[in-house]
Parts: sequence; C-alpha cells; structure tokens
Amino acid sequence: MANSILETTAVNPARATSLVPFLDLKAQFAQIREEVEHAAVGVLEKQQFILGPEVSQLESEIAEYIGCRYAIGCASGSDALLLALLSLELAAGDEIITTPFTFVATAGAISRIGARPVFVDIDPDTYNIDPNEVERAVTPRTKAILPVHLYGLPAAMRSIMQLAGKHRLPVIEDAAQALGSACDNRKAGNIGTVNCFSFFPSKNLGCAGDGGMVTTNDPELADRVRVLRVHGSRHKYHSEILGINSRLDALQAAILRVKLKHLEIWTEQRRSNAASYRELFREHGLDTRVLLPTETPEKRHVYNQFVIRVTDRDQLREHLAKQGIATEIYYPEPLHTQAAFAYLGYHPGDFPHSEVASKTVLALPIYPELSRQQQISVVHAIADFYSTH
Ligand SMILES: *Cc1c(COP(=O)(O)O)cnc(C)c1O
Repeated sequence: MANSILETTAVNPARATSLVPFLDLKAQFAQIREEVEHAAVGVLEKQQFILGPEVSQLESEIAEYIGCRYAIGCASGSDALLLALLSLELAAGDEIITTPFTFVATAGAISRIGARPVFVDIDPDTYNIDPNEVERAVTPRTKAILPVHLYGLPAAMRSIMQLAGKHRLPVIEDAAQALGSACDNRKAGNIGTVNCFSFFPSKNLGCAGDGGMVTTNDPELADRVRVLRVHGSRHKYHSEILGINSRLDALQAAILRVKLKHLEIWTEQRRSNAASYRELFREHGLDTRVLLPTETPEKRHVYNQFVIRVTDRDQLREHLAKQGIATEIYYPEPLHTQAAFAYLGYHPGDFPHSEVASKTVLALPIYPELSRQQQISVVHAIADFYSTH
C-alpha cells in the first residue's frame, strides 16, 4: 500500500490528471487548510517537536474516540506492530497466527523480532482471517493471534476472542485500515489485548508523513509501550529494557488532531459512497458479474478501501485506466509466496482463498470527496467492459 499510494497521489503524472483519481488528498486539504496551517504553525512557534502536549492530547482523543483506556503514539503503523509484539515479550521461537493476505508489515513485524508468522487462510467473503483455520493452527508454541481488519472491515472478533480466551492467548489487532470500524458495537482497537493503527497518508485518518498508534486497556502494557518507544528508558540515559526510537512527531499529532474532528463525517461519506456503488451496480445488472464487499449488521465497515472481486481483473483494470479511472490492487501477491518469507517453507497452493483473492480483487476509488458523477463514470466504464467480455 505504501509505495502504490505515493505513485498515485504524487509521483505518477499520468494518474494525477485522471478523471477519477484513486484518492484526492488535495481536495481534503482544501477543506481544512486554515485549521491545519494554524495547528502546524502553533507547533513551530513552540519549537517542541518530540512528544509533548500535542501528542498526549491526540493520544487522549484517540483513546476516547475508540473507547479504550490507553493510546500511545509512535512513528508508523509498522512500528506500532513491533511495539505491540515487544510489549507482550514475544520473541524467537514463538508462533504468532496471522493472515497471508495483508500488507507486508503485519508479518514483517513478527519475523523482525525472530518469532514465526504462522499463516492461516482467509474467509473468502470478508478477506479476513478464518477463525476455524486459526483454531486448527494453534500449537503449544502459539503465543498470540494477530488478525487484520482488512479494507476497514473488522475480522471475526467474536470468534477470535473466544478462541483466544480458551487458549489464553493475547490478541493483537492490526487495525491500520480500520479506525472507526466496530464489531458488536466495540470499536476496532478496543477489542484485542494490544492493538495497532497507522496514520500513513492513504489511511482513512492520514497525517502528513508517517505516524502510528498503539492502543490497549492494560496499564502494564501501556506503560511498557511508552518505555519501549524511547529506547527502553523511563529516565533519560538509563535504559531498563531494550527499546527502539519510535515517536509520533508533535507536528503530525497537531495535524491529526485537526483531522480527527472530521473523521466521522468522512467515514459517513465513505459509507454513503459504498451504498451508491451497490445501487449503481444493481441498476446496471452488474451485481452478478461483480462481487461486492460483504456488510453484516454486527460490523461497521469504514471502507478504507472498496474492493470488488471480478474475473479478467487485469484487463478490466487496464480498460478503466484508459478511461482515466485509477484503481489499485491490495494485494497482488500473498505473503507466503514472497521471497522475504521463503524461509518459512510455504508453497503456492497452501492458502487457496488468499491466492485467488490476490488475482481477482480490485479496489475502486471510495474517498470521501468522490462525487456521484465520478461514481457513475466508474460503474459505466465497468458495464462497458463486461458488455464486450
Ligand atoms: C498501512 C498498514 C500497515 C503499516 O502501516 P505504516 O504506517 O505504513 O507503517 C500495517 N498493516 C496494514 C494492514 C496496513 O494497511
């Protein structure tokens, strides 16, 4: 996700002029320009850049927003995962059950601490980890379960938490794509033991660079994350544990505080765009050709991505690109077949639902500022493609 978004929003000039861009961060900035400028200048005037009041206020506001006790800012979503794993004192030899159909950082953090990612396949309806598969993968070496709320839809947390309780395992939610989503009226980041968010610019709450957050209701874990993010030091120049340097910049926190106030409105716009897509696909009789995202009443989907599933995906994508409609693929290759994870010994065919998904999913533009007319253009172009295929 990281690299592709840099290409779509800034680097690739062909995409920047498209009729329907994949994401339009300039349109969002235009709405909140004065507030953001004021907040950023405030930090520059104080010249306090590392941690400080903006960061602690954002931490309180995020904790309040998701309903949990503690939130701890850090340098990225990837670092949030690393800090969460370190806070649980997970280490070499430990097995952590996760999905192969996710961004590389999820399993990367597990490997980085020397633990072993144990992949289990997804539920093809939700693209999230299948709890029945999780149960089957538990061994005496299993030390945690790490579900991802892919595209902004929470994983099957009711089953996962039950299973975790039964086996006395901590749960780490990778909620990088899912701030504001909920399962059984509990917000993502307030369900697992210690949980992770990302403020990468393409996420539904994005900052002006990299940023992340760890959330938990456990005071000891919160304390450990706070110490771990400053080199394992509670007092300057005295390290009690081996930590890292991973803080959220005050400048990012100030910008995020402005944007957090708009998040609910933006989320409702994303949800309303999703409803429009459903209606338009139905009107065009495409709901049999195009598999739409699953929505069930016990979960709130925040549509960080609106992902359809289609045949002839790559040709459709090319057809849309020619008409100036940008799309993305999250993710074109599952993790178990990637070179970085070859040492785990998995093979193609091990996780068929993830492999099929990687060849058939297509993310359509869903950002809050997307207009009705743009959505009509997208659906017309898809209808046009299938009328000849
Ligand atoms: C974006 C993302 C991350 C990593 O976040 P960064 O802030 O880019 O480090 C981790 N997991 C998932 C599922 C993500 O989408």
